[in-house]
Amino acid sequence: QKQLCFKGERVMWIQPTTLQELVALKSQYPNAKLVVGNTEVGVEIRLKNMLYPVIIAPTWIAEMNAVQHTETGVTFGAACTLSSVEEVLRKAVAELPSYKTEVFKAALEQLRWFAGPQIRNVAALGGNIMTASPISDLNPVLMASGSKLTLVSNGKRTVTMDENFFTGYRKTIVKPEEILLSVEIPYSREVKEAVSPVFSCRDWNEKLLQDACRLLAGEMDLSPSAPGGMVDFRRTLTLSFFFKFYLTVLLKLS
Ligand code: FAD
Repeated sequence: QKQLCFKGERVMWIQPTTLQELVALKSQYPNAKLVVGNTEVGVEIRLKNMLYPVIIAPTWIAEMNAVQHTETGVTFGAACTLSSVEEVLRKAVAELPSYKTEVFKAALEQLRWFAGPQIRNVAALGGNIMTASPISDLNPVLMASGSKLTLVSNGKRTVTMDENFFTGYRKTIVKPEEILLSVEIPYSREVKEAVSPVFSCRDWNEKLLQDACRLLAGEMDLSPSAPGGMVDFRRTLTLSFFFKFYLTVLLKLS
């Protein structure tokens, strides 16, 4: 397979065949857009009049389509489509002990509502993360579970998708020359081990509910000009979602 390159009047489209070629291209053109499913970029070009003079398609890169089962979870190449992710997670849920697959079940529940099959068949896991949309369906699950992202440029680094990953509206800590190579979605742990340091010694009771609501109300202090608007509604919605989650956990524990 040979690298492809199409040059138009306004846009150059390059499809490399190896990771080395891809990394070299991204360092040569740091502002180039990586495009997999084109379900975000296509909308930006057609409806928002954005122009991306250099487009790089990483769909031929083997590492970006690989799926690996590791000690700690399942690692998906960033170009894996959402349909393929769904299939792998479904199989893992059927075959592994239930306590290990709580995060997978949560991701599958989100994927159930994620667009339609036409979009899920082409849209990539990496595209959903990197587009950094605040209404992304998968990012909340990936963040809550501390999924790990491997980024590659001249070297490789692994970052946790935590509260520091998104730095603003549609912004992340990923540098322009970096490529998202893969995403590890972790196994969940048995309840006795899963207690996080924040909640250790704490019981799942009304006091915890009150504290969590107070902290959430503080965090959701959105500016009235926040994209999407309806800040009061969103604040109330967050608290009611947490209340629903509180009751769900309470039921599971009883
Ligand atoms: P692309 O458009 O190919 O790329 C998106 C962005 O990610 C670009 O900026 C690109 O440069 C960057 N990027 C992609 N891969 C990499 C990489 N490996 N490294 C660095 N940067 C990278 N989203 C939801 O969350 N929920 C929905 O229900 C939903 N419904 C949709 C319905 C429709 C009809 C459409 C058109 C879109 C919908 N989306 C939805 C948004 C979109 O489908 C998702 O965000 C999807 O996962 C994007 O993947 P993609 O491969 O198409 O991204």
